[in-house]
Amino acid sequence: NYSTIGFIGLGVMGFPMVENLCKKLSDSVRIYVFDVSTSTVEELSSRTSGRAEACSSSKEVAEKSDVVMSMVPEGSHVRSVYLTPGTGVLAADLSNKLLIDCSTIDTATSLEVADAIAKQHPTASFYDAPVSGGNLGAQKATLTFMVGCAESDPKFPMLQGLLGMMGNPDAIFACGGQSLGLTAKLCNNYCSGLIAIATSEAMNIGMKSGMDPRVLAKVFHASTAQSAICDKWCPVPGICPEAPASKGYQGGFKIQLMRKDFGLAVDAAKRVGVDLALGEKGLETYTAAMNDPRCKDLDSRVVYRHLGGDEN
Ligand code: NAD
Repeated sequence: NYSTIGFIGLGVMGFPMVENLCKKLSDSVRIYVFDVSTSTVEELSSRTSGRAEACSSSKEVAEKSDVVMSMVPEGSHVRSVYLTPGTGVLAADLSNKLLIDCSTIDTATSLEVADAIAKQHPTASFYDAPVSGGNLGAQKATLTFMVGCAESDPKFPMLQGLLGMMGNPDAIFACGGQSLGLTAKLCNNYCSGLIAIATSEAMNIGMKSGMDPRVLAKVFHASTAQSAICDKWCPVPGICPEAPASKGYQGGFKIQLMRKDFGLAVDAAKRVGVDLALGEKGLETYTAAMNDPRCKDLDSRVVYRHLGGDEN
């Protein structure tokens, strides 16, 4: 049970996740937030009419909250949020607190943070719980959560209830144990990253042969090339009106984050001895796309542009 909840990292994902918490949590639950960008904290506070209360450090959030969630870009940021002496989460009294990191990072960093928490605060619990569904899923509270715990974990029902306010309650998965939520997420993004490249290339073949991409997308939808990428996040502009591709590739999942996740998945494959037929090629493609000035900071499906796709 909790009467206070904290959230650290209010970007593309964290901001709308907190907005949903503000709408769905009972009025008696206080919500504390922090981001290194003070203007973002102020904007969220005003958008929620003060319900999201601004804090000045991760430590302050952790001091004030029974449950602490974090959603920052990379392992280095997670380390900074939790481990920075004096201002990090670990500097607070974490007795009996529940800590949930939703960032997509490498399992080694997550296990290091879990270990540091267990040593210094043995009554606190730390979970990895990365998400899928992008900015739209965060806004609409339809995210999938991949939780690093066993199905039998006594706290899992409570986690399902809480995470279900920001996601699809039927898509909160116990992935088996500590850090396996992250493993599930990296496997998912390896797969969806390759599907985005394959869909872009296949669309290119069809269009350059004279096909209308809208017809081709319908064929894929009804056939074996069907995928969430094709149905909801089509890399070709004008196919899915809500997809970033139809909005100049603005918003969505930044190309550098896809490059990061893809690289983490390739590293994970090496660690467990899985040979990848497409891993190095995919990594090379996302690295080149990330460094392509026409793709900088845009949604990862802009890989279609990098691969020479027609945007008319
Ligand atoms: P983002 O860059 O939009 O937001 C990250 C936020 O964290 C920023 O507001 C930044 O100021 C803040 N931050 C960074 N370091 C901090 C620190 N030390 N203390 C406090 N705040 C700090 O990133 P995002 O798109 O929201 O992604 C967050 C995580 O979610 C990433 O790991 C990403 O891979 C994952 N993810 C993103 C998407 C997506 O579609 N954007 C989808 C699924 C998962």
